[in-house]
Amino acid sequence: MDDVIAAVATPPGKGGVAIVRVSGQGALAVAEKMFTPAGKTKVACFAPYRLYPGRIDCGGFADFGLCVYFKAPHSFTGEDVVEFHCHGGTEIARGALLRTLACGARLAERGEFTKRAFLNGKLSLASAEGLADMINGESEAEVRAGSMLYAERLSAAVRAAQAQLTELLAGIDADMDFPEEDIEHTDLFTAKEHIRALAASLEELTRSYGTGKKIGSGVSVVLAGRPNTGKSSVLNALLGSDRAIVSAQAGTTRDAVEGSIEIGGVRFDLCDTAGLRAGADALEREGVERARRRIEGADLVLFVLDASQPMSEEDKEAYAALEGKKMLVVHNKTDLRADACELPADVRVSALTGENIPLLKQKMFDACMSGYNTDALFVTQERHYAALSRALALLREAEGLCGSVPPDLWGVPLREAWEALGEITGETANERIIDEIFSKFCVGK
Ligand code: GDP
Repeated sequence: MDDVIAAVATPPGKGGVAIVRVSGQGALAVAEKMFTPAGKTKVACFAPYRLYPGRIDCGGFADFGLCVYFKAPHSFTGEDVVEFHCHGGTEIARGALLRTLACGARLAERGEFTKRAFLNGKLSLASAEGLADMINGESEAEVRAGSMLYAERLSAAVRAAQAQLTELLAGIDADMDFPEEDIEHTDLFTAKEHIRALAASLEELTRSYGTGKKIGSGVSVVLAGRPNTGKSSVLNALLGSDRAIVSAQAGTTRDAVEGSIEIGGVRFDLCDTAGLRAGADALEREGVERARRRIEGADLVLFVLDASQPMSEEDKEAYAALEGKKMLVVHNKTDLRADACELPADVRVSALTGENIPLLKQKMFDACMSGYNTDALFVTQERHYAALSRALALLREAEGLCGSVPPDLWGVPLREAWEALGEITGETANERIIDEIFSKFCVGK
């Protein structure tokens, strides 16, 4: 981390302002070479956190902008940081960036600023992940969950658990070191209670992943039913009202998603199975298979029926195929006749008139997010969930061993649980994991 890194910190394109960020010991020296202050204060004498106007040398041309200096360790990365605020043209920012490289900086890698912040102890690994979630978040709930991670809410809970483990381990070590001395030996009963309580608190955190996962990756909803019940129309009515999320993540696993909406701040990804019915030809069979897989992976199925008609054989078949799935029975076309269908409805709507579409949304939210409390801490990332689950299993193992084998033996799973928890904050995370996390950031963050 001895070298100076530089990148354009603002997104590419035209805008009011673009920021070129430089970090590392020697960042100020880079500024000295390419920034000419308009005022009397020389770059070397810049007071931290103050914006100085002046001329930014961009190689073949110059821009008039601002320069700010963040003195180590009180900067985002923990190192000396300099930012040039130039006018927001792609070529202007590029010119300023190339100039920083000519003045001794090198191009930063993806997420390298945040990685340095982590390595310098400015934030935990989980906090850095929260920052990425905030930046990539597409719904209010995603950003809020990201901001909680960023603010070290999960890390604090994890560190508290680690502190308790350390205490238990210290007790065991004292027993092992001075077995015959008359000091207070680890009281087995208390230790076991302690482990049990700790396991219970970790279990509560792991349980929050059920809801947290949906916050992090969206609630997947599939509309199912025989053709012509109005699935596409219901889907469009859902998408048409209020705010539809335009996803920037094309070509991902959300290929099949027709559109996303925000309900109560949470993203719901909607997917239709229109036109996919059991047919003879291979193409249709492939379609049916795909629909089945989507239904299997969905958090919720909206089973759409035509309220103006009794259930047909085809309806019954479609219904039977959904057995065991979390489902809302939606009667559509209530503008025609609302009571012909014999299967009890969870909600009756008319996609045509829009009647009860808000109620349908409310029911969707209640079905998937009941008990969602915006202030509560949720585990939203699989990596954290996996580490917590491993720690929990190890605590259970220690609890089982406690009392039946010597303390140093039940201390082993306790120590491993400590390490599993450390992967969340980053203390014990290996380089591969760390690199993987920061490679998901963009250049300049
Ligand atoms: P899908 O095959 O299940 O996707 O059904 P569509 O959305 O294509 O709708 C089938 C037919 O039902 C179309 O002619 C729609 O205009 C009509 N339709 C859909 N929803 C309603 C509704 O709420 N009321 C009435 N009257 N017609 C509807």
